[in-house]
Amino acid sequence: MSEVLVLVDHVDGAVSKPTLELLTLAKKLGEPSAVYIGPADKAGDAAERVKAFGAEKVYVVDDAATKGYLVAPKVETLQQIAEQAGGADSLGGVLVVSNFEGKEIAARLAVRLGSGLITDAVDVADDGTTTQSVFAGNYTVAAKVTHGTPIITVKPNSANPTEGAGAGTVEQFTPTISERAKAAQIVASQPRKSTGRPELTEAAIVVAGGRGTGGDFAPVEGFADALGAAVGASRAAVDSGWVPHSYQIGQTGKTVSPQLYVANGISGAIQHRAGMQTSKTIVAVNKDEEAPIFELVDFGVVGDLSTVLPAATEQVAQR
Ligand code: FAD
Repeated sequence: MSEVLVLVDHVDGAVSKPTLELLTLAKKLGEPSAVYIGPADKAGDAAERVKAFGAEKVYVVDDAATKGYLVAPKVETLQQIAEQAGGADSLGGVLVVSNFEGKEIAARLAVRLGSGLITDAVDVADDGTTTQSVFAGNYTVAAKVTHGTPIITVKPNSANPTEGAGAGTVEQFTPTISERAKAAQIVASQPRKSTGRPELTEAAIVVAGGRGTGGDFAPVEGFADALGAAVGASRAAVDSGWVPHSYQIGQTGKTVSPQLYVANGISGAIQHRAGMQTSKTIVAVNKDEEAPIFELVDFGVVGDLSTVLPAATEQVAQR
């Protein structure tokens, strides 16, 4: 079976759920090998985690050589691992999480390996055919890389991570990073202030607010906190400067697929739906009973969010 490289997405060694989804999909294409580029002291835990989800091999790369730079050193690292594994003609594929950094890495790697690239896949079949949901979810495209090894970025929440231990053989890998790759350096970075809430794309419950909040997200946040949920937003709320862009759900934001999605003061524009329509249960609070969001909800509340949400929060708090 050919080796399939999975770039491990993590925060300080804590492996993200989308990485586990990639490992699940990688098993369809061949033998998953996880590539961990991160702090050496967290490598053991990360390796155990990816092993539990099927990694046969774990390449451990100390991020001392890549830290402080943009993506180029990571691309060189992946390229060298790919070449060691036999190059584009031998590899079964390379899977990367579809986020801003992942997409840039995948694109640069595709150029270096002379391989085809597919971005934003929502599924990968055994024969490498991917599914993409395009034009705000109006069309489903089946596409396949026909040259080199398939390099695929997969949107978070595209698969259910399936446990099943792989061999998890750890191989320390020391890349040779060129001076050129170090040409752009990060001069300052500021960690995002932690809200203490779950990560939006990984949360089981998402409570989102739109223009209908009028800029007051307190009722949305209060309800989210009562439920232990993540807070999301429509683009209208983000463009108004009420919440950061990292909250945006939709075509040009994040894709979420929680067990429960609660849309508050959100009309349900097609670009918003593109990022939340696969949620398992959808609830909307909107004062306009004609709002398009009501076409796709499981439960709808016609009412003003500034009264409905505090009442709902109180009910939840009493349980
Ligand atoms: P509106 O459409 O203005 O709806 C506000 C809703 O709040 C209304 O239904 C109203 O009845 C209700 N309301 C008002 N007051 C209250 C109240 N007190 N209580 C309860 N309900 C109330 N949008 C996204 O969300 N994500 C994207 O990623 C995205 N990408 C886009 C990409 C492109 C290329 C384009 C062209 C657009 C994109 N949009 C995106 C924008 C999208 O088309 C809509 O404009 C946006 O989703 C509208 O946000 P909204 O529902 O919050 O606002």
